[in-house]
This record gives sequence, C-alpha cells and structure tokens, in this order.
Amino acid sequence: MRKAGRHFLQIPGPSHVPDRILRAMDFPVMDHRGPDFAGLGQRVLSGMQTIFKTTGPVVIYPSSGTGAWEAALVNVLAPGDKAMMVETGHFASLWGHLAESLGIEAEILETDWRAGVDPDAVEQRLREDSAHLIKAVCVVHNETSTGATSRIAEVRKAIDAAGHPALLMVDTISGLASADFQFDAWGVDVAVSGSQKGLMLPPGLSFNAISEKALAVAKESGCKRSYWDWESMLKPNETGYFPYTPATNLLYGLAEAIDMLHEEGLENVFARHQRHGEAARKAVETWELEVQCQQPLDFSPVLTAVRLPDGHDADAFRATTLKQFDMSLGNGLSKIAGRVFRIGHLGDFNDLMLVATLGGVEMGLSLAGVPHQSGGVAAAMERLKK
Ligand SMILES: *Cc1c(COP(=O)(O)O)cnc(C)c1O
Repeated sequence: MRKAGRHFLQIPGPSHVPDRILRAMDFPVMDHRGPDFAGLGQRVLSGMQTIFKTTGPVVIYPSSGTGAWEAALVNVLAPGDKAMMVETGHFASLWGHLAESLGIEAEILETDWRAGVDPDAVEQRLREDSAHLIKAVCVVHNETSTGATSRIAEVRKAIDAAGHPALLMVDTISGLASADFQFDAWGVDVAVSGSQKGLMLPPGLSFNAISEKALAVAKESGCKRSYWDWESMLKPNETGYFPYTPATNLLYGLAEAIDMLHEEGLENVFARHQRHGEAARKAVETWELEVQCQQPLDFSPVLTAVRLPDGHDADAFRATTLKQFDMSLGNGLSKIAGRVFRIGHLGDFNDLMLVATLGGVEMGLSLAGVPHQSGGVAAAMERLKK
C-alpha cells in the first residue's frame, strides 16, 4: 500500500540524502579518463582533506566502509603482526574479526559496551608491551552500535605517554562530518570513513586518510594487496585520476556534499549534532529509560541508543514504529540485540525532524506497551527552544 509523505529513515546510517545531492548526481556518466574528469577528481580529493582536516593524502574507494577497514589494515599490517583493538561495541568487534581473517593478531581490549575508549587502559596496556609487539592501536571514533564517541586526542596522548610507536588507526565511518574530527591535530595515522552517514551520500564510497608515518610503514610492510593498495591509487590521484573506474556519479554527489558542509561551516554542523544529541537524551531521561552509553564525556552527537526495561523487546517496539508511523529506527546489534533501539540524528537533519522522530518514538512506546513516563518530546522541545 502506498504510504503518503516521507519515510522517516532514522537509523544511524544510511542517513537522508538531501535533494541537492540527489540532483548533483543526476548527470550523464563522464569519461573517467577524459580531460574533464581531472577537475572533479582533484576537487573531491582536496575537498576530503578539508573534511578530515589533514594536509596528507586521502584515498577514495568505490566500496562500503568495510572495504576501507580492510584497506587500512592490509596497507600497514602483515599477517602475524599484532593490533590492539578496543572493543567499544559491535563495529569495533567486526573490525577485529576482519583483522583476524587477514591473519593479523587482534588483541581485544574488552569493555562493557557502555562507554568510549578509556585512554588510561590503552596507556597501561602499551606500557606493558615493552617489546613493542603491538603495531597498531585500532579504535572506533563514534561507536554506532552503542552511541559512544571516543576522545581520540586523548588516545593519542596515551600512546605518546607510554612512549609506544604503534600507529593510531581510527574508524570514523559514522563520526566524520557529524562529530569533530581532526586527523592532523590529533595525530591520527590512518582514518577510515564512508559516504552514507555524516557525508549525506548514498552508500558506496569509502575513504582512508593517511599520515606520513603510515605511508612510510606501508612501503615496507603490510599484507599482499592489489585493489586496496595505497601506492597504486596515489600515483594517478596526483593528477586527479583513478587507477580503475571510480564511482563517477557518487563523486558528483561528494563534491556537492563537501560544498554544503562548508556553506554551513563544519563547526556549526558539529554544534547542530551536539544539540540534537542533548535534546534526544532529554527525551530519554524524561521517559525514564536509560541510554546505552553511561559515560557523559562520551555521549554521541550522532545517535542515541536507548535500552528497554527487562522483558521488553526492542525489535517488537521498532516493528510498531515502522508499521504505525513509517519510521525506521536502528536495531540492537549482537550482544545487545533486542535490548536497545537506536535513534539516528545525523546528516541532513533539523529540529523539526528530531521532534517528529521523538514523537514517533513516544507514541510507539505507548502502543508497544513499554513502561515509560510521557513528556519526553516536550522536554526535548524545551531544549530546542534554546
Ligand atoms: C556503518 C559503520 C560501519 C560499516 O560500514 P559499511 O559501509 O556498512 O561497511 C563500520 N563502522 C562504523 C562505526 C559504522 O558506523
């Protein structure tokens, strides 16, 4: 049956694609080896440096974020190398499994999935590794399964305080362009991102930002690789070209997205996301439900993961909001499946979209018989009036 009005896609990625980006992609495919392509190539490659806040190279792959995860690992780590992976949630855990499947030894630093990375725990473990067997510290900037944003600058400080040479590798697939991220200033060595979250694009592009140190390591080390190899990408990139057919129309969209982010101003984009995170948490608090993240320093501006009381199934609740209000909410992943639902408030998103989203959640809680206090939407509105 036809559903009138817009579907509310309130999962934490893919996010809404603004009409302006859809229109920017609605052009004939161009010859990616022809003279016109270089301008577009250079525009998106240098534009992404401004989004990552780096003067170093950024590689753009036609792949999901998972591809860029693999690319990050195979360029700097060889089979048998050890990486410390901080397991802040489902996505950190998946990255660890990917490393293992490549023959990289993933040493998992476990957490209870209710906070971001604890920099002190990282420092302590690195101090114990006096032989420097750990080649990389891998962390997720914004853990999309739990709604915890890690303090990456502090993780860098922890590595330096331990006097450890490990590379700092960061998944900012759902962080970039929603939460502040500063590749150079924070001393990140490899960053991984994707197109379908803060960048407001459809799925299909992924990114690696690369430090000088990581480039040097890649020259000497890494797994056997071809498609993901940075060197073979960076050479043609110098003149704005790619070694194989790039996702041309997604690149038109990416150029538009970069322009839109700078028109609003990155700092304003981050402040908007923070504000929506605060308003969403006000609603949750008023409902007398719990957010999954328990460390206020790590509350995510990108999404809010909400725990349901024992005996209540988050997936049944989500089915209700989909059926009644045509709104998709994020599900709980692996360890917390059925226990939490996730409200995405990222990308091209404004106050009234948040109010409507929270309205759907509050009505859904009633319809699904989840015990809660009413007034969450009103509390969020109070926050949004400021
Ligand atoms: C979405 C996401 C991924 C996975 O990206 P895909 O494009 O689905 O491969 C990985 N890490 C984080 C933090 C994410 O939010």
